[in-house]
Amino acid sequence: MLRTTIVGSLPKPPWLAEPAVLRAPWRLAGDDLRQAQDDAVRLALLDQEEAGIDIVTDGEQRRRHYIWGFLEGLTGIDTENLGSKLARGGRYGERTAVARIVGEVTRPVPVFLDALRFARAHTTKRLKVTLPGPMTIVDSVLDEHYRADERTLALRFAELLNAEARELAAAGADVIQFDEPCFNIYLDKVKDWGIEALERCCAGLNVKKAIHICYGYGVDAVLAWKTQNKDWGHYAVTLPLLARSSIDQVSVETAASGVDVSVLAALEGKDVLLGVIDVGTEAVETPALIAERIRRALPYVRPERLFPCTDCGLVPRGRDAASGKLRALAQGAAIVRKEIEK
Ligand code: ZN
Repeated sequence: MLRTTIVGSLPKPPWLAEPAVLRAPWRLAGDDLRQAQDDAVRLALLDQEEAGIDIVTDGEQRRRHYIWGFLEGLTGIDTENLGSKLARGGRYGERTAVARIVGEVTRPVPVFLDALRFARAHTTKRLKVTLPGPMTIVDSVLDEHYRADERTLALRFAELLNAEARELAAAGADVIQFDEPCFNIYLDKVKDWGIEALERCCAGLNVKKAIHICYGYGVDAVLAWKTQNKDWGHYAVTLPLLARSSIDQVSVETAASGVDVSVLAALEGKDVLLGVIDVGTEAVETPALIAERIRRALPYVRPERLFPCTDCGLVPRGRDAASGKLRALAQGAAIVRKEIEK
């Protein structure tokens, strides 16, 4: 019980990309880049194992950005010459630089299969792979080719994500997680087609299927929005819908949001990845504080179903802060585990 995991990303070493910069360009190219990414993945796995994290990821060391990592493996998408649009409902700014759909979108070869095989060969821990969810992809691209409605476009991406997920599962991924921060923004769309697209992603998947829903990265624009936000009722709408879906695990942010954890009672029968690490600060939590955040959820989630986790990705943080937070996460969970086993 109380097995620990992380949402997905970890900071990149400074020799791989400029730290603390989202979408930072690679510092190497060609085979040098591939070798550097291999090295960074091994370090990311080691950091998690040394900290005592139970279900690990490759730290997303091969992706400049959690969405683009997948998009860059597809045809028809330009992640170099960006467009701009109102994304995330304008929550974090007027216009956002986004990738453009400029042609037929296909997945000629698997995107993360080699990456998964490498990570699988270098850890014996349970291994999670993250993929961007279809609603969040649609919100993060400018469609200059199909000019389709959002549902149609989301279902197109869902087909590609499903094919990718099936191959990752067959090659040894234990958990496939779809990242859908937009489920905390477009509540009507979640009902209208978001769950449908998510189910399309999961069809025929025989490993743990997870969804991560958060209030965004720990970066300035997001933190500014969170500071003034008063409405934390989004999970109350989405979690009951997910409770009726085929999703196995739901990742929620509770450390650095105003979310009332009693809302988790709606996820009876599902695993809950409980965000107990604030990803918006360099300050490392004490294990005692992590334990306190875990205990808050115990009236609503059985400990076998509760997976202490980070609120979101740790990529914007410093490496020391991220490593410290991983250790605090594992140690905090150990404190509560001991209390329960007494
Ligand atoms: Zn997140």
